[in-house]
Amino acid sequence: MTTLKRRSWAEPFKIKMVEPLKMTTKEYRQKALIQAGYNTFLLKSEDVYIDLLTDSGTNAMSEYQWAGMMLGDEAYAGSKNFYHLEEAVQKYYGYKYLVPTHQGRGAENLISQILIKKGDFIPGNMYFTTTRLHQELAGGTFIDVIIDEAHQTEVEHPFKGNIDLQKLDDLIKKVGANKIPYVSVAGTVNMAGGQPISMKNIKQVRELTSKYGIKIIFDATRAIENAYFIKTREDGYQNKAIDEILKEMCSYTDGATMSGKKDLLVNMGGFLALNDYAIFEEARNMVVIYEGLHTYGGLAGRDMEAMARGIEEAVQFDHIRARIGQVEYVGEKLLEFDVPIVRPIGGHAIFLDAKQFFSQIPQIEFPAQTLAAEIYLDSGVRTMERGIVSAGRNKDTGDHYYPKLELVRITFPRRVYTQAHCDVTIESIVETFENRNNIKGLKMIYEPKYLRFFQARFERL
Ligand SMILES: *Cc1c(COP(=O)(O)O)cnc(C)c1O
Repeated sequence: MTTLKRRSWAEPFKIKMVEPLKMTTKEYRQKALIQAGYNTFLLKSEDVYIDLLTDSGTNAMSEYQWAGMMLGDEAYAGSKNFYHLEEAVQKYYGYKYLVPTHQGRGAENLISQILIKKGDFIPGNMYFTTTRLHQELAGGTFIDVIIDEAHQTEVEHPFKGNIDLQKLDDLIKKVGANKIPYVSVAGTVNMAGGQPISMKNIKQVRELTSKYGIKIIFDATRAIENAYFIKTREDGYQNKAIDEILKEMCSYTDGATMSGKKDLLVNMGGFLALNDYAIFEEARNMVVIYEGLHTYGGLAGRDMEAMARGIEEAVQFDHIRARIGQVEYVGEKLLEFDVPIVRPIGGHAIFLDAKQFFSQIPQIEFPAQTLAAEIYLDSGVRTMERGIVSAGRNKDTGDHYYPKLELVRITFPRRVYTQAHCDVTIESIVETFENRNNIKGLKMIYEPKYLRFFQARFERL
């Protein structure tokens, strides 16, 4: 007889409406894969069985959110849904002022344009693609001040998203506080695999920056997932509610950019939240240029309503426990089969280490691209490459960048897939792993100039 290791993380909802999926054969998928040039970004969504490409905007909304969609006040100015969203952000995040934006990058554009001057430096706990780009477009330079452990895939650390206070202090002393408009703090850290930052660390960053009069802008995109890790891993927080933890995190910062497409359980939406009236005044003025009037910011009234309701649902402990529990379930099963993954398991994704997985395939033959293609071929599960293809080329030498990490990202939409879908995914990866020595790499036959991973095409060697 075997004994239970732990009780299930099961979902706090049942299914009311279903979206049928097309079931395909291996022969069908082989054709689709060739047509897509072995690039999972080029597959048609309808040819995908389980889509684990991203958690961005792929969430399932609840009956409460869908009911809210019918209450959309589509007035050009002063929509009642804006006021509901403002109230929800004030209540749960604790910031005073709200500017809605069409998604996270809209908020990043506004805050970067307002706070960054040419020649400034913006330290942060690892870059994120759109965040860094907006900082650079505003004339700034991003400096990574995350702890070294974040870059080491085999090292276990409960808060790999922490900022290295020494690195931050050294930078302030080197360039001067007046060259640092703000520290960019993310919770959790997407590019490190969804790794959290601790409350203690955020507090210390606040103490350090206060000494120098430097602001903190919080990338709160997955702050609720971060709050769950603080509750379950950090001393003193076991008995605190998720919303209390969220509010405390935000209280150490001066403002936040938000992509509602992640934590907030919607398909589109975002916001900029601020405490300083003067900065808010400028953001409210500028949003009109890029997004729309300050009471809709590029969103329909119904979208703001769905996001306001999404906040209320996202901070429920049972929701966030099931969300992260599902990711952990898949990760732990893969570890049982000795499949190489990045540790510890993050909040929204699992990363397969393709270099270890296909030790016979050299990096120049694209092991992670190959692995994503093989998983699709085996089961119709769609994942994405995060390795040499994503890294691109060095502009000066023309050679590929050879990143240390050659990964396949398996990302989980919220409230979308069942445990049986998870099992199909696990079985497919394990079987590909068992068959790994028979698999050959790929050759790139078409390479776009910018962000090549989206449209590059490959052939089997
Ligand atoms: C997705 C994301 C963003 C950008 O948000 P969009 O809604 O895609 O514009 C910013 N930061 C992090 C950490 C993200 O994951």
